[in-house]
Amino acid sequence: MKVTLCAGLLGCLLSAVAVPAAHADAALDALVAAYPDFIAGYDAKDLVLKSGKHIPLSNGIADKTPEQRIEHADILDMFAMPYTLGADYKQPATPADDPGRARNQALFDAMYGDCTKGQVKLKTIQWLPALNGGSLRVAAANGVAEQLEVVSRDLQALPSKFHVYLKPSAGTYNCRPIAGTSRMSMHAYAAAIDINVKFTDYWRWGGAKKETDKVSYKNRIPMEIVEVFEKHGFIWGGKWYHYDTMHFEYRPEIIALAKKS
Ligand SMILES: [Zn+2]
Repeated sequence: MKVTLCAGLLGCLLSAVAVPAAHADAALDALVAAYPDFIAGYDAKDLVLKSGKHIPLSNGIADKTPEQRIEHADILDMFAMPYTLGADYKQPATPADDPGRARNQALFDAMYGDCTKGQVKLKTIQWLPALNGGSLRVAAANGVAEQLEVVSRDLQALPSKFHVYLKPSAGTYNCRPIAGTSRMSMHAYAAAIDINVKFTDYWRWGGAKKETDKVSYKNRIPMEIVEVFEKHGFIWGGKWYHYDTMHFEYRPEIIALAKKS
């Protein structure tokens, strides 16, 4: 049994995870600020939702492997790996380099609803209206639809050489788990968008099957596109070791924390 010396409940809690205390406070503050409609605050051990629901900050599993952190993400696990904004990011080199890919399912279920029970509220937006990109159904909660409309406006203003990457969109809302897992995708919450599948690269397509398999990084998506999404609160799946380069998801807490560091 591992014996840890720690001061106070939060100190004990944090000693079990890979997130230092100062970083944990900044991360939790960013989380509360990112979802004001749903999160009231946090105490020494829980995230407290406005509904009264408490979600533990840590599930108490010490020394998680990267695979366990993705599979059983608690609140603090979502911030274990810092996300770097912009074009100057380090190419992910190890299976732990998945910034923002860990999501606590209890939190996202509470905010967006369970799609298998018809609980996800959707709003229809026009994708790249000046370029006839069609309509998309995205989450009404957390301002996702409004933010994606702003992204769309900025993207269609980019030089025309970028437009081919953006349409048709390969989809937003899709009530399904992530391929090969039982975890719900951000598409199940209608808080993610895939751009044109024709230019995407995906970690499983090189023959990797398990999270622990070696993959080699590939990307064809221009960084000008990534920067527009990041500016408006969306993280990019191209910054993950388990890359999914057409994928963007609304994670304003991750973007806000990245801006601070
Ligand atoms: Zn996707």
